[in-house]
This record gives sequence, C-alpha cells and structure tokens, in this order.
Amino acid sequence: MNDQTPLKKPIDKKALLAKYLAERDKRLREDGNAQYLNLEGNLAHYAADPHTPFIERDPVTDHVTFAFVGGGFAGLVTGARLAEAGISDFRIIEKGGDFGGTWYWNRYPGAQCDTASMIYIPLLEETGHMPTEKYAHGPEILEQCQRIGRQYHLYDKALFHTQIREIAWDGEQSLWVITTDRDDRFTAKYVGIGTGPLHVAKLPGIPGLTSFKGKSFHTSRWDYDYTGGDARGALMTGLADKRVAIIGTGATSVQAVPHLARACKELYVVQRTPSSVDVRNNVPIDPDWFASIATPGWQRRWLENFTANQTPGNMIEEDWVQDGWTDLSRRIKARVATLPPDKRSLADILSVWEDSDFEKMEEIRDRVDAIVEDKETAAKLKAWYRQLCKRPCFHDAYLQAFNTPGTHLIDTDGQGVERIDETGFVVAGKHYEVDCIIYASGFHVGTNLQSLLGFDVIGRDGVKLTDSWAQGMRSKHGIHVHDYPNMFVVTPTQGANLISNVPHNLTEAARAIAAVVRHAEEIGAKEVEVTQEAQDAWVDLLLTGPGASLRNAPDCTPGYYNNEGKDPGPAAALAVGYPLGAFAYFRYLDDWTRSGKFEGLTFT
Ligand code: NDP
Repeated sequence: MNDQTPLKKPIDKKALLAKYLAERDKRLREDGNAQYLNLEGNLAHYAADPHTPFIERDPVTDHVTFAFVGGGFAGLVTGARLAEAGISDFRIIEKGGDFGGTWYWNRYPGAQCDTASMIYIPLLEETGHMPTEKYAHGPEILEQCQRIGRQYHLYDKALFHTQIREIAWDGEQSLWVITTDRDDRFTAKYVGIGTGPLHVAKLPGIPGLTSFKGKSFHTSRWDYDYTGGDARGALMTGLADKRVAIIGTGATSVQAVPHLARACKELYVVQRTPSSVDVRNNVPIDPDWFASIATPGWQRRWLENFTANQTPGNMIEEDWVQDGWTDLSRRIKARVATLPPDKRSLADILSVWEDSDFEKMEEIRDRVDAIVEDKETAAKLKAWYRQLCKRPCFHDAYLQAFNTPGTHLIDTDGQGVERIDETGFVVAGKHYEVDCIIYASGFHVGTNLQSLLGFDVIGRDGVKLTDSWAQGMRSKHGIHVHDYPNMFVVTPTQGANLISNVPHNLTEAARAIAAVVRHAEEIGAKEVEVTQEAQDAWVDLLLTGPGASLRNAPDCTPGYYNNEGKDPGPAAALAVGYPLGAFAYFRYLDDWTRSGKFEGLTFT
C-alpha cells in the first residue's frame, strides 16, 4: 500500500479490503458462466425481434466485393471508409431488421450512451450531425446508424434478419463462399467480421423460470406493446396497474429503473450485486458552442484528446470530454505525479491506483447515503469492490428512484433469485406476486468463439477459426489472421483495446482496412494475408504488456469482466491490447497505414 500521498479522508484500507473479499466470496459459484440460460429451445421466443416484421425473400446467389457480418458500428464504419476509398460493392449481413447493432436491439427506456456523444457516436463530422446531448439517448444513436447507412448507400445490398451459417475460403478462386439461414449462397472477395462482444442475450438460471404465467421479456427485446410508452421515454402507461419485477442491476437496469419507477404501480428491483453509480451530469449541447468547435477534423481531435487522457503516463493539460472516464484516469495520473521519481515502479503505481480507487468508491458510497432516504435501502445499494471490477455506471435518477413510493429494492445478499413460479418470484423464502418480469440479465461474454459468432469461418486448407483460436485469439492488429486471406476482424482486442470508447477502435480499424483493400485493388492483388511471422511477432509484442491483469482480477466480485470469478484459461492472456496503450496504438496504426508498405502483409 502507498504511504506517500495522504487520502482525502481516513480510510481503514485493511477493513475495506476484507469487506471486498467477503462480498466477493459470498457471490462465487461453482457453475460460473454455466449458470446462465441461452435463448434457445423453449426460451427461443425471448430472442424474437419485436422491432421489425420478418419479410420473406428469395435466396441471394450473387457476388460482392466485400461482405461484412454485423450491421452495428463496426460494419457501418467499415462500409463508410470503403465507400470513401472507392469500394462501394459492399454487403452487410445482419441478424436484426435494420442497422444499429446494440442500438437496434436495446430500445429499453432510458438507453443512453455512457461515453460522451462527441466521441462515442461515429462519423458525426462526415454526416454533419450535431449530438443533441452530452450523452445522447438510444433513438438518436440508432438514427445516426441509419443516416450512415443511407449516406454511404449501405442499404442497397444489405441482408437483414439473416444469420450466417458458414463462411468458407475457396482457394482455387480466391473467394469466400457465404451461406446463411435464408438459404443464401453468395461469394465475396473480402469478408469482414464485426459482431461485437455483447450481442447474445442470456437469461439468469433461476429454477422455475419457464413456469411464470405472466408477461416476461429481456431488456434487449423491450415490449412496448405491453408496457406502453416508447424508446424516447414517454410514460409507460400500460404499467400503471402492474406489479413489475426487474431482475438485475447492471448498466441496463440502472438506465431503465427510473422510467419503470415512474410508470409501475409496484416495482421490485431485484439485486444480486449493486452497481457503482456516479454522477452523470447530462446536458444539452449548445448549437452555437458546437458550431464554434466543429471545424474540419474536429471529431478526430476530440477522439485523440479523450484517448490521451485515458492513456497512462500521458499527462495532457486539457480534458475536453470531462466525464467519469477521464476523471478516473486523471486522478490516478495526478497521484502518480506526486510520487518521487525513484518511487514509480509498477508496484508503486498500482498502489496509488488502489488509493485513488478507495477514495472514488467511498465518494460513490457516500453519494448513496446523500440521495437515498431509507437508510436500510441505502446501505444495500452500496457497491463493495474496486470501480473497474464491474462496469462503472453514471446516472442522476437511478438512486433517486428508490425514493419513489411503490419502488422496492429486493436485495438478495449476493445469492440471486431463489426461484420463479407461476405467479412471481421468491427471495430469501419470501414470495412476491408480480404481473411482469423483466430480465436485465445481460449478454454472453467470453464463452467460446463459435457460440458467440453463431458460425465458423473455414480458412485456407479447411482450417476452422474456432480451432485456430482454441487457445486464444491470434492476429496482427486484431484485424488480420494468418490462414484467413482477405478476411478482416473489427474489434478492440489485440489493437488499442480502448474499452472506455469502443467506437474509436472500430473507426481506426476501418480506416486501416479500407487502405489495405484499396491498395490490393490498385495493384490487382487477388489475395492479401498476414504472414505467420508477422502475426507471431505481434502476439509476442502484446504479451510484453501489463495485459488483462486488472480485468481478470481474482479479488473482484464475480461478473463478466472476470469470467464470473473463474480462471479464464490461457485465452484470456491474449485478450489484450498494444502494450504502450491506446493513444500510442492509434498513432502506430496511422503510421503503418500511411506508409503504404503494409508491413507484415503479403499481396499476391
Ligand atoms: P450485466 O451483465 O451487467 O448485468 C446483469 C445483471 O443481472 C447483474 O446485476 C447480475 O447480477 C444480475 N443477475 C444475473 N443472474 C441473476 C440472478 N440469478 N438473480 C438476480 N440477479 C441476477 O448486463 P447489462 O445488460 O446491465 O449490461 C451489460 C453490458 O452492456 C454493460 O456492462 C455495458 O458494457 C453494456 N451497456 C452499456 C450501456 C451504455 O454504454 N450506455 C448501457 C447498458 C449496458 P451480478 O452482478 O451479481 O452478476
């Protein structure tokens, strides 16, 4: 522990750590990820699309230059950058009924970005859209996705409500053959994969879940026909006479609960582990201010400012975004700066980080006391773990919702719901009768690749991607994979790995991919592929960094950030980013792309 910098208020660190460990131990379970249920078989109806009717169509059997799996931000920005590079023969294959990915599915009331709109929403400058709020709400972000789709003509060839069955390399023709669940069988010179890490919804493994006779749905399939209201926050009048339970208190629930509290006759917020909920301070964006900063290149400058603020060792003066993420990193950096130069080893830095974390979490716990009137409820809403053990939340109405008459916190003391029956749910032996159960139980993360993608990619000589990556992802830049020519993966992992602003990773990857494809087309190459040596060298470089040590921290309370407290196996060591941090990575990738040499790739 660090003795150099005094804490703002005295904290008994030993006692606090003991409390953190006791709270973790309460929650550890043998079954880890296996506790969750897939939305298949008799639960398949939970996955049905409530937003867009399914339209029958004939199978597609043509050829496109570029086929991309996933119509969220990754596919949209890749399509846009390719269009700018002159490649317009681009097809997105998407399981939803429109573009938007996360923002297509998640239309629960209150859905809002948690990273500032100015840097979170992609291609603002290119589309000329001014975000209306510092943290825009879901419908505005979905509209931006559709705007990108229209502006870059990405709708023309898109296949919606379509899921890939298989993508297989035909080495004789240097083409990918793509088959889908709509009996499509078409070819593409290039393929891209950007399905995102959180697109497979899961249900909690609560005994008796299927016996419930009332209404139930997952938050990513919100049923406004039942609740009334809409995604823009109109009052859900259908709930005025209803007793509703929402199970789960993660980032989704934190945003939805204030809306439910306003609408329901009785609301039961069923908690297994509290989220840390810091201030949000959302404000409208002033058009005059926006006009004054929106000069050419503005969004890239904002992205760089945010990323520089987030990157260790990079103490920059200005913080344009000024939110919970930059506050977190700036306060750690400020503490490190107070250390004498000979006391800045990794252990010293981790120690001041711990102090800073204790302080922040105390502030967040004090905030609960300041807002929640009932002292017992307030005590139960306090999070006892380090801030990055779970997704940090920010909201100005969540804690306040527990002061609303009719809103009840049902804390399960880390044990979860005991069982569900025909009329309601049971916690600690007590039965609660409800009309509706809403599952805010999250998404599968970190399970095997095929179950996440829902298909396999068969590369050169019949090599399956699931086999190639059985011991963990191997790539160069998180984009190029040896044995998978003309294939590009769009993900933060093995690139910048900037988790506080995922879209930044995607837009930079898209820029690099467009440059590679344009070069291949210009020189008439049939195939582009990373060499085995270049891929191995990149993976070796990644392994020299501090790695995923914090995210997989064994002393954290279980959750998807740390594989539910289970040893994540060797694959987790490879779920990392560039050792010098995100800022340096983006600079490096830009240089790599601009040099025009595309070092490590072969064009044949
Ligand atoms: P999470 O996985 O974060 O939360 C699931 C919740 O369900 C947890 O509170 C979990 O408790 C609870 N739960 C699971 N099983 C049981 C059970 N048997 N009984 C009672 N409770 C149970 O899912 P979310 O949808 O909230 O968020 C997923 C991710 O999506 C976020 O972490 C974030 O990355 C992203 N997101 C981003 C937003 C944004 O950027 N604006 C908004 C919303 C989500 P426990 O914690 O104990 O496991």
